[in-house]
Amino acid sequence: MGAVIESWDIPSVPVAGGTDRFPVRHIYCVGRNYAEHAKEMGGDATKEPPFFFTKPADAIVAVVPPAVGHIRYPLATKFFHHEIELVVAIGSRGVKLAPADALGVVWGYAVGLDMTRRDLQNEMREKKRPWDIGKSFAQAAPIGELHPASRVGHLSRGAIWLDVNSQRRQQGDLADMIWDVAHTVHFLSQYYEVLPGDLIFTGTPAGVGPVKPGDRLDGGIDGLGTLAISIDAAAG
Ligand code: MN
Repeated sequence: MGAVIESWDIPSVPVAGGTDRFPVRHIYCVGRNYAEHAKEMGGDATKEPPFFFTKPADAIVAVVPPAVGHIRYPLATKFFHHEIELVVAIGSRGVKLAPADALGVVWGYAVGLDMTRRDLQNEMREKKRPWDIGKSFAQAAPIGELHPASRVGHLSRGAIWLDVNSQRRQQGDLADMIWDVAHTVHFLSQYYEVLPGDLIFTGTPAGVGPVKPGDRLDGGIDGLGTLAISIDAAAG
């Protein structure tokens, strides 16, 4: 079979401790999953079911410590925001999973950044239009090494943090998530057949803010290591 245009590699995330990689099929993200972040975004912290948006698989920028990843400042924004998040990697198929069964499809965990063109997201939100232009763009999903649940267990607590230029910007604990991983996968699987290769960005703690070219971001989650990126100039 010939491809009529040049084909490309399936985006993938390196697995910690070896040379294996996890191919990425689809990226789902939870909108608001920490009460303090919901408040800073102008919402409240009532326990409504989570809502989801997506990013393309090729938004992944995989970074293995101690390397520092590079992403370009994106087009068309003056308010490029960081959101440090726990990322869940799906290893097997699931449909309409009960919360008690949902962790059975989880293969592992990583540290990720849900990079956001906040001005465009807010504009779309006010106009009741889709968020895509604010959330779904090139290099919008930096991610660290993937850690198998068989090695690190399933995560329900532990510090999550992000520094910008060595200043602490975000600090939280996974225990503060409004919906834990099992419930997040449960809800997602009511709407989508979750499939091997899917990633779920599970929401960010409070403290989101803007970055600019030249900035260095260092984030981490207890037990999952760190993720470092720097922001390069926008494409000209
Ligand atoms: Mn987010």
